[in-house]
Amino acid sequence: MAQEHTEIRSAAFVRGVIGTTPILYDGVPQVAFVGRSNVGKSSVINMLTGRKNLVKVGKTPGKTTELNFFSINDGACYFVDLPGYGYARVDPKRKEKIKKMILWYLLYAEVTPRLVALIVDAKAGVTAFDTEMLRVLREQGHPHLVVANKIDKLNQKERAAALKAIRAAAGESPVVPCSATSGEGRAALLAAIAV
Ligand code: GDP
Repeated sequence: MAQEHTEIRSAAFVRGVIGTTPILYDGVPQVAFVGRSNVGKSSVINMLTGRKNLVKVGKTPGKTTELNFFSINDGACYFVDLPGYGYARVDPKRKEKIKKMILWYLLYAEVTPRLVALIVDAKAGVTAFDTEMLRVLREQGHPHLVVANKIDKLNQKERAAALKAIRAAAGESPVVPCSATSGEGRAALLAAIAV
């Protein structure tokens, strides 16, 4: 049976944010997306919103250090695209800046996101920084889930093994298998986001 969810009718970029800015505290619910560079975070946001180019796919890793705000359904909520982290070739200072920005949003900005979607690559699994993210999300009491993206790349056997490992690493946090390419997981994510 198809899961019930609200459809996204409109999505528009609002602004990039660094530090304390009024948009963070305007009362509009925030759904944040976080993940390593190249896990398909931009592609997942595009898939959810049904917009091919809302977020540019294949951006140079580490280039964005801002929080990018998108207005969903004419201000019903914001999607907040956090900078991608952990790409090996990004210089250490920039890496540190990105990490600080993410942790600032989750720990110190005093926002209470409605949901944080931690996106991982289903094949690569949960990395050390993903585990740190999960710990922070739990400690802060932020509602969250793990999105196991690029699941389309795995055959049935690999898929079962990958999901088992990700579920073990995620503990009590829900895990949603997802493919930005095939659209798998879209209904489940939209239901969790409850736009
Ligand atoms: P980001 O850096 O996390 O925002 O990742 P992007 O959305 O830019 O995607 C990185 C690369 O992975 C691109 O080449 C995408 O086309 C590809 N990609 C993203 N999601 C999927 C997916 O679900 N399946 C497959 N096969 N490729 C994907």
